[in-house]
Amino acid sequence: MHLPFCPYICPYCDFAKWPLRASSAARYLKALYAEIDREPGVPAATAFLGGGTPNAYDAADVTELVGRLRARFGDFEEISIELNPELIRPDDFERYRAAGITRLSIGVQSFEAGEIETLGRKHTPEQIERAVALGRAAGVPSISIDLMFAVPGQTPASWRRSLERAIALDVDHLSTYGLTVEAGTPYADWHARQPSAFFDDTAEAELYAMAIDALKSAGYEHYEISNFARSGHACKHNANYWANGDYLGFGVGAAAYRDGVRSVHTRSLGTYIEAALENRPIPSDAERLEGRKRAGEAIMLALRTAQGVGLGDFKRRYDIDVVRHYAPVVSRFTEAGLLERTEDCMRLTERGRFLANDVCGAFVTFD
Ligand code: SF4
Repeated sequence: MHLPFCPYICPYCDFAKWPLRASSAARYLKALYAEIDREPGVPAATAFLGGGTPNAYDAADVTELVGRLRARFGDFEEISIELNPELIRPDDFERYRAAGITRLSIGVQSFEAGEIETLGRKHTPEQIERAVALGRAAGVPSISIDLMFAVPGQTPASWRRSLERAIALDVDHLSTYGLTVEAGTPYADWHARQPSAFFDDTAEAELYAMAIDALKSAGYEHYEISNFARSGHACKHNANYWANGDYLGFGVGAAAYRDGVRSVHTRSLGTYIEAALENRPIPSDAERLEGRKRAGEAIMLALRTAQGVGLGDFKRRYDIDVVRHYAPVVSRFTEAGLLERTEDCMRLTERGRFLANDVCGAFVTFD
Protein backbone atom coordinates (compact mmCIF):
# COMPACT_ATOMS: atom_id res chain seq x y z
CA MET A 1 0.00 0.00 0.00
CA HIS A 2 1.79 3.07 -1.19
CA LEU A 3 1.15 6.36 0.63
CA PRO A 4 3.33 8.75 -1.35
CA PHE A 5 3.24 12.07 0.46
CA CYS A 6 6.13 13.42 2.50
CA PRO A 7 6.46 16.60 4.53
CA TYR A 8 9.70 17.29 2.63
CA ILE A 9 11.68 15.50 -0.04
CA CYS A 10 15.01 13.89 0.82
CA PRO A 11 17.74 14.55 -1.75
CA TYR A 12 18.72 10.89 -2.22
CA CYS A 13 15.21 9.52 -2.71
CA ASP A 14 13.90 8.14 -5.98
CA PHE A 15 10.66 6.61 -4.70
CA ALA A 16 7.31 7.72 -6.08
CA LYS A 17 6.68 10.58 -3.67
CA TRP A 18 5.26 14.10 -3.57
CA PRO A 19 5.38 16.95 -1.08
CA LEU A 20 2.40 16.77 1.25
CA ARG A 21 -0.57 18.88 0.22
CA ALA A 22 -3.79 18.31 2.11
CA SER A 23 -6.03 18.46 -0.98
CA SER A 24 -4.01 15.93 -3.02
CA ALA A 25 -3.55 13.67 -0.01
CA ALA A 26 -7.33 13.57 0.56
CA ARG A 27 -8.07 12.91 -3.12
CA TYR A 28 -5.43 10.22 -3.21
CA LEU A 29 -7.04 8.39 -0.29
CA LYS A 30 -10.33 8.33 -2.15
CA ALA A 31 -8.57 6.87 -5.16
CA LEU A 32 -6.90 4.25 -2.99
CA TYR A 33 -10.23 3.27 -1.41
CA ALA A 34 -11.74 2.96 -4.88
CA GLU A 35 -8.90 0.68 -5.96
CA ILE A 36 -9.15 -1.47 -2.84
CA ASP A 37 -12.90 -1.71 -2.92
CA ARG A 38 -13.02 -3.12 -6.41
CA GLU A 39 -10.37 -5.75 -5.77
CA PRO A 40 -11.95 -9.19 -5.35
CA GLY A 41 -11.23 -10.10 -1.75
CA VAL A 42 -8.72 -12.91 -1.30
CA PRO A 43 -7.27 -14.04 2.00
CA ALA A 44 -3.99 -12.25 2.67
CA ALA A 45 -1.57 -12.89 5.52
CA THR A 46 0.20 -9.57 5.74
CA ALA A 47 -0.08 -5.93 4.75
CA PHE A 48 2.51 -3.19 4.57
CA LEU A 49 1.73 0.53 4.51
CA GLY A 50 4.80 2.09 2.97
CA GLY A 51 5.76 5.33 1.40
CA GLY A 52 6.33 8.05 1.04
CA THR A 53 5.49 8.74 4.63
CA PRO A 54 2.35 6.91 5.76
CA ASN A 55 2.14 8.87 9.00
CA ALA A 56 1.91 12.10 7.05
CA TYR A 57 -1.75 10.99 7.21
CA ASP A 58 -3.37 11.26 10.60
CA ALA A 59 -4.25 8.20 12.61
CA ALA A 60 -7.96 8.42 11.71
CA ASP A 61 -7.11 8.06 8.00
CA VAL A 62 -4.74 5.19 8.70
CA THR A 63 -7.46 3.49 10.77
CA GLU A 64 -9.99 3.87 7.97
CA LEU A 65 -7.53 2.50 5.42
CA VAL A 66 -6.61 -0.52 7.52
CA GLY A 67 -10.31 -1.15 8.19
CA ARG A 68 -10.98 -1.27 4.46
CA LEU A 69 -8.08 -3.64 3.92
CA ARG A 70 -9.32 -5.95 6.65
CA ALA A 71 -12.84 -5.87 5.26
CA ARG A 72 -11.48 -6.95 1.88
CA PHE A 73 -8.71 -9.36 2.82
CA GLY A 74 -9.59 -10.69 6.27
CA ASP A 75 -7.59 -10.48 9.46
CA PHE A 76 -3.91 -10.16 8.77
CA GLU A 77 -1.22 -11.86 10.81
CA GLU A 78 0.99 -8.83 10.44
CA ILE A 79 0.32 -5.24 9.43
CA SER A 80 3.35 -2.94 9.22
CA ILE A 81 3.47 0.80 8.86
CA GLU A 82 6.47 2.93 7.94
CA LEU A 83 6.92 6.02 10.05
CA ASN A 84 8.81 9.23 10.02
CA PRO A 85 9.84 9.85 13.66
CA GLU A 86 9.22 13.57 13.85
CA LEU A 87 5.60 13.27 12.73
CA ILE A 88 4.51 10.86 15.45
CA ARG A 89 1.73 12.19 17.69
CA PRO A 90 1.49 10.87 21.25
CA ASP A 91 -1.69 8.81 20.82
CA ASP A 92 -0.95 7.50 17.29
CA PHE A 93 0.27 4.12 18.40
CA GLU A 94 -2.73 3.31 20.60
CA ARG A 95 -4.89 4.09 17.61
CA TYR A 96 -2.74 1.99 15.30
CA ARG A 97 -2.97 -0.90 17.75
CA ALA A 98 -6.75 -0.56 17.88
CA ALA A 99 -6.80 -0.64 14.07
CA GLY A 100 -4.83 -3.92 14.05
CA ILE A 101 -1.35 -2.67 13.16
CA THR A 102 1.26 -5.02 14.63
CA ARG A 103 4.57 -3.67 13.42
CA LEU A 104 6.25 -0.26 13.24
CA SER A 105 9.06 0.43 10.79
CA ILE A 106 10.68 3.69 11.84
CA GLY A 107 12.81 5.57 9.29
CA VAL A 108 15.81 6.46 11.45
CA GLN A 109 18.75 6.30 9.00
CA SER A 110 21.19 7.66 11.60
CA PHE A 111 21.41 8.81 15.21
CA GLU A 112 24.03 11.40 14.29
CA ALA A 113 22.65 14.90 13.87
CA GLY A 114 25.15 15.78 11.10
CA GLU A 115 24.30 12.69 9.04
CA ILE A 116 20.57 13.20 9.52
CA GLU A 117 21.05 16.71 8.15
CA THR A 118 23.17 15.49 5.21
CA LEU A 119 20.36 13.11 4.33
CA GLY A 120 17.95 16.04 4.35
CA ARG A 121 15.91 14.56 7.19
CA LYS A 122 14.47 16.66 9.96
CA HIS A 123 14.16 14.44 12.99
CA THR A 124 16.34 14.45 16.08
CA PRO A 125 17.88 11.44 17.85
CA GLU A 126 15.56 12.17 20.80
CA GLN A 127 12.50 11.87 18.56
CA ILE A 128 13.66 8.41 17.52
CA GLU A 129 13.96 7.30 21.13
CA ARG A 130 10.60 8.80 21.97
CA ALA A 131 9.00 6.98 19.02
CA VAL A 132 10.32 3.63 20.20
CA ALA A 133 9.23 4.34 23.78
CA LEU A 134 5.73 5.30 22.64
CA GLY A 135 5.49 2.16 20.52
CA ARG A 136 6.49 0.00 23.47
CA ALA A 137 4.08 1.79 25.81
CA ALA A 138 1.24 1.19 23.35
CA GLY A 139 2.09 -2.53 23.23
CA VAL A 140 2.98 -2.71 19.54
CA PRO A 141 4.29 -6.27 19.16
CA SER A 142 7.20 -5.54 16.83
CA ILE A 143 9.30 -2.41 16.35
CA SER A 144 11.85 -2.07 13.57
CA ILE A 145 14.19 0.74 12.64
CA ASP A 146 16.02 1.46 9.38
CA LEU A 147 19.64 2.57 9.42
CA MET A 148 21.72 3.77 6.51
CA PHE A 149 25.44 3.39 5.97
CA ALA A 150 27.87 4.92 3.46
CA VAL A 151 26.32 8.34 4.04
CA PRO A 152 28.70 11.12 2.96
CA GLY A 153 30.60 12.33 6.02
CA GLN A 154 29.94 9.14 7.97
CA THR A 155 32.93 7.47 9.61
CA PRO A 156 33.37 4.00 11.07
CA ALA A 157 33.20 5.63 14.52
CA SER A 158 29.95 7.49 13.80
CA TRP A 159 28.42 4.37 12.24
CA ARG A 160 29.37 2.43 15.36
CA ARG A 161 27.66 5.03 17.54
CA SER A 162 24.44 4.72 15.52
CA LEU A 163 24.55 0.94 15.78
CA GLU A 164 25.16 1.14 19.52
CA ARG A 165 22.27 3.53 20.07
CA ALA A 166 20.01 1.27 18.03
CA ILE A 167 21.09 -1.75 20.06
CA ALA A 168 20.59 0.17 23.30
CA LEU A 169 16.97 0.79 22.27
CA ASP A 170 16.53 -2.97 22.11
CA VAL A 171 14.29 -2.81 19.06
CA ASP A 172 12.99 -6.11 17.69
CA HIS A 173 14.25 -5.68 14.16
CA LEU A 174 16.75 -3.59 12.21
CA SER A 175 17.22 -3.01 8.50
CA THR A 176 20.56 -1.60 7.35
CA TYR A 177 20.94 -0.26 3.83
CA GLY A 178 23.95 1.14 2.01
CA LEU A 179 23.20 4.50 0.44
CA THR A 180 22.57 4.18 -3.29
CA VAL A 181 23.04 7.19 -5.53
CA GLU A 182 19.99 7.14 -7.80
CA ALA A 183 19.97 8.86 -11.20
CA GLY A 184 17.94 12.03 -11.36
CA THR A 185 18.21 12.88 -7.66
CA PRO A 186 20.09 15.86 -6.14
CA TYR A 187 22.51 13.28 -4.74
CA ALA A 188 23.35 12.20 -8.30
CA ASP A 189 24.32 15.81 -9.10
CA TRP A 190 26.38 15.97 -5.93
CA HIS A 191 28.08 12.69 -6.81
CA ALA A 192 28.87 13.98 -10.31
CA ARG A 193 30.41 17.16 -8.85
CA GLN A 194 32.24 15.56 -5.95
CA PRO A 195 32.58 11.78 -6.21
CA SER A 196 35.17 11.77 -3.42
CA ALA A 197 32.44 12.67 -0.92
CA PHE A 198 30.93 9.20 -1.42
CA PHE A 199 32.09 5.81 -0.22
CA ASP A 200 33.75 3.34 -2.56
CA ASP A 201 32.77 -0.35 -2.46
CA THR A 202 35.58 -1.36 -0.12
CA ALA A 203 34.88 1.33 2.45
CA GLU A 204 31.14 0.59 2.25
CA ALA A 205 31.78 -3.14 2.76
CA GLU A 206 33.69 -2.30 5.95
CA LEU A 207 30.64 -0.55 7.37
CA TYR A 208 28.41 -3.45 6.39
CA ALA A 209 30.80 -5.84 8.15
CA MET A 210 30.65 -3.66 11.26
CA ALA A 211 26.86 -3.83 11.24
CA ILE A 212 26.88 -7.62 10.93
CA ASP A 213 29.38 -7.99 13.77
CA ALA A 214 27.67 -5.54 16.11
CA LEU A 215 24.14 -6.79 15.54
CA LYS A 216 24.98 -10.48 15.67
CA SER A 217 26.95 -9.92 18.89
CA ALA A 218 23.88 -8.19 20.30
CA GLY A 219 21.81 -11.32 19.60
CA TYR A 220 20.10 -10.37 16.35
CA GLU A 221 19.76 -13.01 13.66
CA HIS A 222 21.07 -11.86 10.29
CA TYR A 223 18.17 -13.42 8.44
CA GLU A 224 18.41 -11.52 5.18
CA ILE A 225 21.17 -9.50 3.53
CA SER A 226 19.89 -6.19 4.90
CA ASN A 227 17.78 -7.40 7.80
CA PHE A 228 18.36 -8.47 11.39
CA ALA A 229 15.77 -9.67 13.88
CA ARG A 230 15.25 -10.91 17.40
CA SER A 231 13.78 -14.39 17.46
CA GLY A 232 10.20 -14.36 16.16
CA HIS A 233 10.46 -10.82 14.72
CA ALA A 234 11.52 -11.45 11.12
CA CYS A 235 9.23 -9.47 8.80
CA LYS A 236 6.60 -11.88 7.45
CA HIS A 237 5.57 -9.51 4.70
CA ASN A 238 9.05 -9.32 3.20
CA ALA A 239 9.53 -13.07 3.67
CA ASN A 240 6.78 -13.54 1.10
CA TYR A 241 8.70 -11.42 -1.44
CA TRP A 242 11.84 -13.44 -0.92
CA ALA A 243 9.87 -16.67 -1.28
CA ASN A 244 8.68 -15.34 -4.67
CA GLY A 245 5.10 -15.44 -3.39
CA ASP A 246 2.18 -13.54 -4.87
CA TYR A 247 1.32 -10.08 -3.61
CA LEU A 248 -0.97 -7.23 -4.55
CA GLY A 249 0.04 -3.59 -4.71
CA PHE A 250 -2.21 -0.57 -4.29
CA GLY A 251 -1.45 3.03 -5.05
CA VAL A 252 0.68 5.10 -7.38
CA GLY A 253 3.85 3.27 -8.45
CA ALA A 254 2.82 0.18 -6.48
CA ALA A 255 4.24 -3.17 -7.59
CA ALA A 256 2.38 -6.48 -7.66
CA TYR A 257 3.23 -10.06 -8.51
CA ARG A 258 0.48 -12.49 -9.25
CA ASP A 259 0.34 -15.79 -11.13
CA GLY A 260 3.78 -15.16 -12.64
CA VAL A 261 2.95 -11.62 -13.81
CA ARG A 262 4.91 -8.75 -12.35
CA SER A 263 3.32 -5.34 -12.72
CA VAL A 264 3.98 -1.79 -11.63
CA HIS A 265 1.35 0.94 -11.55
CA THR A 266 1.96 4.27 -13.25
CA ARG A 267 4.18 6.67 -11.34
CA SER A 268 2.05 9.62 -12.47
CA LEU A 269 -0.02 10.77 -9.50
CA GLY A 270 -2.69 12.45 -11.62
CA THR A 271 -3.04 9.47 -13.95
CA TYR A 272 -3.35 7.08 -11.02
CA ILE A 273 -5.96 9.14 -9.19
CA GLU A 274 -8.10 9.72 -12.27
CA ALA A 275 -8.07 6.08 -13.33
CA ALA A 276 -8.92 4.83 -9.85
CA LEU A 277 -11.72 7.36 -9.29
CA GLU A 278 -13.19 6.72 -12.73
CA ASN A 279 -13.11 3.01 -12.06
CA ARG A 280 -10.79 2.33 -14.97
CA PRO A 281 -7.84 -0.09 -14.89
CA ILE A 282 -4.75 1.61 -13.45
CA PRO A 283 -2.22 2.09 -16.27
CA SER A 284 0.61 -0.30 -15.45
CA ASP A 285 3.64 -1.97 -16.97
CA ALA A 286 3.34 -5.72 -16.79
CA GLU A 287 5.67 -8.57 -17.62
CA ARG A 288 5.02 -12.29 -17.47
CA LEU A 289 7.91 -14.16 -15.92
CA GLU A 290 8.13 -17.68 -17.24
CA GLY A 291 10.40 -20.66 -17.24
CA ARG A 292 14.07 -19.89 -16.66
CA LYS A 293 13.48 -16.21 -16.05
CA ARG A 294 11.00 -16.93 -13.29
CA ALA A 295 13.34 -19.51 -11.79
CA GLY A 296 16.35 -17.15 -11.96
CA GLU A 297 14.40 -14.43 -10.15
CA ALA A 298 13.25 -16.91 -7.53
CA ILE A 299 16.84 -17.98 -6.87
CA MET A 300 17.97 -14.37 -6.65
CA LEU A 301 15.30 -13.61 -4.04
CA ALA A 302 15.86 -16.76 -2.00
CA LEU A 303 19.63 -16.24 -1.92
CA ARG A 304 19.04 -13.00 -0.05
CA THR A 305 17.84 -15.00 2.93
CA ALA A 306 19.87 -16.93 5.50
CA GLN A 307 18.13 -20.19 4.65
CA GLY A 308 18.85 -19.74 0.93
CA VAL A 309 17.29 -21.86 -1.81
CA GLY A 310 15.49 -25.03 -0.69
CA LEU A 311 16.52 -27.34 -3.52
CA GLY A 312 13.74 -29.93 -3.18
CA ASP A 313 11.06 -27.27 -2.86
CA PHE A 314 12.50 -25.43 -5.84
CA LYS A 315 12.34 -28.56 -7.99
CA ARG A 316 8.70 -29.05 -7.02
CA ARG A 317 7.73 -25.44 -7.75
CA TYR A 318 9.73 -24.75 -10.91
CA ASP A 319 10.64 -28.23 -12.14
CA ILE A 320 14.30 -27.26 -12.23
CA ASP A 321 17.19 -29.06 -10.58
CA VAL A 322 19.16 -25.98 -9.52
CA VAL A 323 22.50 -27.68 -8.99
CA ARG A 324 22.39 -29.47 -12.33
CA HIS A 325 20.81 -26.73 -14.42
CA TYR A 326 23.01 -23.93 -13.10
CA ALA A 327 26.09 -26.16 -12.70
CA PRO A 328 28.68 -23.68 -14.09
CA VAL A 329 27.38 -20.84 -11.90
CA VAL A 330 27.07 -23.03 -8.81
CA SER A 331 30.56 -24.45 -9.13
CA ARG A 332 32.16 -21.09 -9.94
CA PHE A 333 30.77 -19.37 -6.86
CA THR A 334 31.15 -22.42 -4.61
CA GLU A 335 34.83 -22.65 -5.53
CA ALA A 336 35.20 -18.92 -4.92
CA GLY A 337 33.79 -19.41 -1.41
CA LEU A 338 30.68 -17.32 -2.05
CA LEU A 339 28.10 -20.12 -2.15
CA GLU A 340 27.69 -23.17 0.07
CA ARG A 341 25.49 -26.22 -0.15
CA THR A 342 23.98 -28.78 2.11
CA GLU A 343 21.98 -31.68 0.76
CA ASP A 344 18.78 -29.67 0.35
CA CYS A 345 19.91 -26.08 0.48
CA MET A 346 22.13 -23.63 -1.35
CA ARG A 347 22.95 -20.30 0.22
CA LEU A 348 25.40 -17.44 0.26
CA THR A 349 28.35 -17.76 2.58
CA GLU A 350 29.14 -14.93 4.96
CA ARG A 351 31.58 -13.62 2.34
CA GLY A 352 29.04 -14.18 -0.42
CA ARG A 353 26.69 -11.70 1.24
CA PHE A 354 29.14 -8.94 0.40
CA LEU A 355 29.03 -9.86 -3.28
CA ALA A 356 25.39 -10.87 -3.43
CA ASN A 357 24.64 -8.76 -6.49
CA ASP A 358 27.30 -10.56 -8.52
CA VAL A 359 26.17 -14.01 -7.44
CA CYS A 360 22.45 -13.35 -7.82
CA GLY A 361 22.98 -11.58 -11.14
CA ALA A 362 24.73 -14.66 -12.54
CA PHE A 363 21.65 -16.81 -11.83
CA VAL A 364 19.27 -14.27 -13.34
CA THR A 365 21.24 -13.91 -16.58
CA PHE A 366 22.21 -17.58 -16.94
CA ASP A 367 20.69 -19.25 -19.99
S1 SF4 B 1 10.70 10.47 3.63
FE1 SF4 B 1 11.24 8.57 2.52
S2 SF4 B 1 9.90 8.56 0.71
FE2 SF4 B 1 9.85 10.65 1.57
S3 SF4 B 1 11.37 11.75 0.40
FE3 SF4 B 1 12.40 11.01 2.27
S4 SF4 B 1 13.26 9.01 1.68
FE4 SF4 B 1 11.78 9.58 0.11
